[in-house]
This record gives sequence, structure tokens and C-alpha cells, in this order.
Amino acid sequence: MSTLRVLLAVLLCLLPAGCGDGNPFPEGSTMWRIRERGILTVGIKFDQPMFGFKDPGSGRITGFDAEMARLIAKDLTGSERNIRFVETVSRERENFISQGVVDVVIATYSITPARAQLVSFTDPYYYAGQDLLVRAADTTIDDVSDLDGKSVCTAKGSTSSERLSSQAPGATLEIVDGYSVCVPALMAGRVDAISTDDTILLGLLDQHPDLFRLVRKPFGREPYGMGVRRQDTGFRDYLNGLISGWLRDGQWDRAFKDTIGVSGTAPDQSRPANR
Ligand code: GLU
Repeated sequence: MSTLRVLLAVLLCLLPAGCGDGNPFPEGSTMWRIRERGILTVGIKFDQPMFGFKDPGSGRITGFDAEMARLIAKDLTGSERNIRFVETVSRERENFISQGVVDVVIATYSITPARAQLVSFTDPYYYAGQDLLVRAADTTIDDVSDLDGKSVCTAKGSTSSERLSSQAPGATLEIVDGYSVCVPALMAGRVDAISTDDTILLGLLDQHPDLFRLVRKPFGREPYGMGVRRQDTGFRDYLNGLISGWLRDGQWDRAFKDTIGVSGTAPDQSRPANR
């Protein structure tokens, strides 16, 4: 081998993908391609504290969904830092997956039969429930049945808006792109409540504990799945293997404790059974 080729081979070994033959995944699979590329691309929320949140100071993405993504990047590329987060609002999730904008969506993404026609979901990695966030001083709303004549803010393309239409038909819905847009509206009295998953509402409550109150009467169960391209059952199966491993080896519990757990919620209702 010429000196130049030896030098090239050494340089190649320094790349995240390693020395070429170090890729342990089946050639051509999504896992193999991500390993070769050295970067995992993840669609996530940027405005949901404790689940997917872009810290305005550091720019770091924090939250339970971000921790799940980091564990995947570590397994695929050897480092949790080999990751690119792409902001993905509720209504964009299916598009971003099918157009290949991201490798996987991890974004408080509930598994539903309609969505499963368009994307492939992993097994549930988290269970949330739909709830209501109201102004602390407002005593008129204590249940979804109190929403007659009230205006409720929620996000486009979410299961939250669909469930409100069926369970609170007397409410006026204010449908926006992301839940953070609802916060100033609730503060200013332009809407009477924000409704979505309790996980998301807990994060918003944490930012304004004196102004808001979480009703804590969940009215619907939301199993979160990771979404990948519809035909990519190989990648889905690989992710399922990782999820069941984290449930067994304590990494799921660690991610919970470091993120949503700081709100004082217990994991009991949210944790899938060990698989
Ligand atoms: N989990 C629900 C959904 O997937 C509501 C939260 C969200 O919009 O991300 O639609």
C-alpha cells in the first residue's frame, strides 16, 4: 500500500462511521445509512418544555423525546451528539416522514389508525392523557363537560383537536400551529383553556405556575410512538428493540426522572410495561 493510501485508510477510521467494515447493520438498511452518514435526523417539537424544547439561551434541545433521540443516536453512531433536530409541528409530522426530511419523528406523536395508514409506528414508548389548562383564578372549568360556550386553544393536526370536537361540541376551538401560541392567548383572556396531552400542559404550567391551573381530569389516552416511513419495517423493528431494552435496563426511568419527572409526576400511568 502506498503511503497515501495508508494515510487515507487511517483518516477514514477517524470518521464516525469507522473503518468501512465496522458498520454492524445490514447493508442498505436505514440503520446502515445513518451509521455511514454519522448523523441521525430527528423531527421533534421545539416549544414543549419537558418533552421537546429548544432552550433559548443555549440552543440545546431538552425533554423526554430529546433523550429518546439521543439514546438512538448513541446506539447508531456511537455518540449521542451525532444528531440533528428539526422542528416538527403536529400537522407536519406525516409529511416530514414521508418526504424524508427526517429519519424519525419523536414528537409527542400519538399512534392512531388513521396515521398508521401513512407512517409506520413503533410500539408505545409513553402514555399521556388529554387534559385542560385554565387560568388559576377561573373556577368555572373543572372537567371537559364544563367547556360549553368556552373557547379552547389547541394545535392543528392533533388528536387533541379531534377529541375536543367530539367530547366538547359546545366549545369554540381556536386552532393554531403550536401549543406555545396558546399561552399568551390564555393569559390575555382571549381563550378560556388550552387542551392537549397532560405532558405538554405540565411543561406549560411549569413555566407559569402562579397563572395557570391543570384540571387533572384526563379524558382520553394517548400512546406515543416514534414514526418512520411506512414501508420501513426494518427500522421500526430496530427501534422497538431499543425501546424494550430501555424499559428493562433503567434508561427509560432515567430519562423520565431527568425530564418530565421534575414536575413531580409519577411514571405509573405513563410507563409501558416491560417487553
Ligand atoms: N399526542 C397528540 C397528537 O399526537 C397531541 C399532542 C401533539 O399535537 O403533539 O396529536
